[in-house]
Amino acid sequence: MDLSGIPVSRYHEALHRGEITCAATVEYFLHRIEQARHLNAYLEVFGSEALEQARKLDEQRKKGTATGKLHGVVFSLKDVICYKNHRATAGSRILSGFTSPYSATAVERLLKEEAIIIGRVNCDEFGMGSSNENSAYGKVLHPIDETRVPGGSSGGSAAAVKAGLCMISLGSDTGGSVRQPADFCGIIGLKPTYGRISRYGLIAYASSFDQIGILANHIEDVALTLEVMAGADPNDSTSSHNQVPEYSRLLQGSGKFNIACFHEAIRHPGLDREMAEKISHFIRQLKEQGHRVDILPFELMDYVAPAYYILTTAEASSNLSRYDAIKYGNRRHVGEDDITTFYKINRTTGFGKEVKRRIMLGTFVLSAGYYDAYFTKAQKVRKLVTDKILSVFKNYDFIIMPNSPVPAFKSGEKTEDPITMYLADIYTVMANMTGCPAISLPLFQHSEGIPFGLQVMANRFNELSLLRFSKQLLENNY
Ligand code: GLN
Repeated sequence: MDLSGIPVSRYHEALHRGEITCAATVEYFLHRIEQARHLNAYLEVFGSEALEQARKLDEQRKKGTATGKLHGVVFSLKDVICYKNHRATAGSRILSGFTSPYSATAVERLLKEEAIIIGRVNCDEFGMGSSNENSAYGKVLHPIDETRVPGGSSGGSAAAVKAGLCMISLGSDTGGSVRQPADFCGIIGLKPTYGRISRYGLIAYASSFDQIGILANHIEDVALTLEVMAGADPNDSTSSHNQVPEYSRLLQGSGKFNIACFHEAIRHPGLDREMAEKISHFIRQLKEQGHRVDILPFELMDYVAPAYYILTTAEASSNLSRYDAIKYGNRRHVGEDDITTFYKINRTTGFGKEVKRRIMLGTFVLSAGYYDAYFTKAQKVRKLVTDKILSVFKNYDFIIMPNSPVPAFKSGEKTEDPITMYLADIYTVMANMTGCPAISLPLFQHSEGIPFGLQVMANRFNELSLLRFSKQLLENNY
């Protein structure tokens, strides 16, 4: 039975009909992972453990005591999400050898619904990057065109889902790290509302932006995973108490919507011509189908990425100060020196180039002499962008735009030019700046032979309508 790309509902039917077992499913994925090792998507595979768990689930099913919504569903975890008694390194050397003493709330909730976690997948170090080239454990290859990057920072997650090396993957999205790799690899990537899913057990990059996200092949699977993980958590004071709808049961629905699109986004000089054309054509189709699509001005477009990089590096410089080689991770240097030298040597050798660049940037924008010129100003930009976006949602259901100005690019193409890499995040950071949910939908094919997606953003906590609309778009086959 071909299990790669199978939707959870069909898999469950096959299990109940006895056509397949959880153990055979895990074996299937283990075999595929082995065959695709060169992609470098997995950092660690929990093979025997996943098999054992699968056998237990098969037993339970036979006894009729298997009731989990995610019974036997095979997940991978981005290496920034903690799983009790398993290693977590955030793609960094500084955490090599670190074993998590607890599980993220999101992971606990998956396990409670009988999911199987098959391994942890590669990512850019501490989630910092857009190409998965910033991992201390090597780059990940694009599963369709191996000369290209799979996107980042959740590149391992996207590659694993696309290559059929798991059914669903959890990633994290601080400025696009779920949506952009989903876009590059041709799968679905959802970043929920800030606070929708607990961040407890998610290794922090920029805490007021970070959110766990879902990468999958089917919108129904995204909805189901979201409904299992979402909801208040006493361990994360920023998690929301808003009620969690049964997303997966309520997905059906059609309707005509008011959709906004920003002029500065689709007419951006950096946007690939072919992508711009295909998106414009898509907008015409939406109108023909009876939706209202208005092109609105968004004067703040050029400020979004710079403000994002000031605020997130500031938060990162603070969050990453905990890695002092005493409390966490690998102590490479144990000399007789004073404590400052000890920190310096361990942090210098433990962090990669990009992470160091960001710690320095963040420290600079927070320093006494520059705080107001950069940090305070960027916070003001965040407020202006948020006010603007929320005002758009008073009249519109969704905002659509690309996820990235270019499709999956060649490995090494942008590594020497961090500014170009940063500016490529213009479309995705908006949702994190404002806390809104946004999804990447694999709707298009580029003549370069790779897919690309459309980003749809909704108002805070409107995941249900976002998922419903996504289903409608995916089924329309543009
Ligand atoms: N590419 C963005 C960055 O490097 C997004 C990262 C993320 O969402 N974790 O910051």
